[in-house]
Amino acid sequence: MRGNIKLLLAGAAAVVIAIAAAAFVLGDTVQVVIDPGHGGSDVGAEHNGRYEKDDNLALALLVKNELDDMGVDVILTRDDDSYVSLEKRCRIANRKKALLFVSLHRNSADGAEGVEIWVNGSKPEADTKLAEYILDGLDSAGISENRGIKFGYAQGDGNYYVNSHTVMPSCLVELGFINSEADNELFDSNLEAYAQAIAEAVYKSVPSQ
Ligand SMILES: [Zn+2]
Repeated sequence: MRGNIKLLLAGAAAVVIAIAAAAFVLGDTVQVVIDPGHGGSDVGAEHNGRYEKDDNLALALLVKNELDDMGVDVILTRDDDSYVSLEKRCRIANRKKALLFVSLHRNSADGAEGVEIWVNGSKPEADTKLAEYILDGLDSAGISENRGIKFGYAQGDGNYYVNSHTVMPSCLVELGFINSEADNELFDSNLEAYAQAIAEAVYKSVPSQ
């Protein structure tokens, strides 16, 4: 009799441990990773003392707030002004088995303005759809020019690192040119609306599990 009770308790304990382990595994995955480009010593593009890394982080923090409110499980690759390697950004997303990855950047080039979004050159359907939703939303929020969805890499062959080293659908948003006063004014005044547009597009794109 005593032996049976012991066995029962051991069985119950095993069930509790199994449930806790399952909860831990589930709790260790995320639906979405938002990646504020650059950070720390890597300031990104720069214009009159304005650093791309700061704009990316300000936007990412707002996007996370919006997604939190929508009940989407989201993490940032950085939530302060620290340096995070491209390898680590992708490792975070891949290890967490994220369903979507969105990298936030600002552009820089003489005489150019507007928003473009980069997708892997193999044109994956889910990645392209995600980028289209985001670009449509930003366009509605108000941008200087819709430069479209672009594939591959702006500076030659290949892909942006985060678009080729993450295993889930991903895209890289270039939200206006930091050397365009018009784009900076739009960025500052529409920051909240941009964050909401990105969050809504991401929400629409999260695959059902
Ligand atoms: Zn950048």
